[in-house]
Amino acid sequence: MLINLTEIKRDEKLKGNGLFVIKDIEKGEVILDWSDGVLYKAKSPYYLPGDLVDHAIQVSENEWVDHIFARNANHSCNPNTSVNDFTKFIALKDIKKGEEIFWDYAMTEDSDWVMPIDCLCGENDCRIRISSFSALDVGKQELYKKEKICSQWLLNKYVFKN
Ligand SMILES: [Zn+2]
Repeated sequence: MLINLTEIKRDEKLKGNGLFVIKDIEKGEVILDWSDGVLYKAKSPYYLPGDLVDHAIQVSENEWVDHIFARNANHSCNPNTSVNDFTKFIALKDIKKGEEIFWDYAMTEDSDWVMPIDCLCGENDCRIRISSFSALDVGKQELYKKEKICSQWLLNKYVFKN
């Protein structure tokens, strides 16, 4: 059964929608499984239809998923969730009912995509320019791989290759 412990609400700071948890969440808990999303194939996200280039989530070298809940989850350079398996948000820490969840777009993306605006997360370690996993500094890449807090497709690509 698919899990969804979130609702879409307005994020006043970011002036857009965000994804907020509807109950207290414990570290390690699955918050959302978006495996019922729509799969698109393309050689680059810039070939995806409509506004998907900035909203679909990469699940393989040439595949992106569009999902109404996943597309409303915002980025943070210091996120409180990670993407595990291919299509699950998992809590990186305890999250209180009503708090917004954030993930790092580089936990899934590894393409020629670059976020069209500078990051607004406001964290001390904000990277400003958000793009691919391979554009992360090496320390962060190693952390994401070691802790397995990035998409399974990136673990397959960079950790389990041959
Ligand atoms: Zn940031």
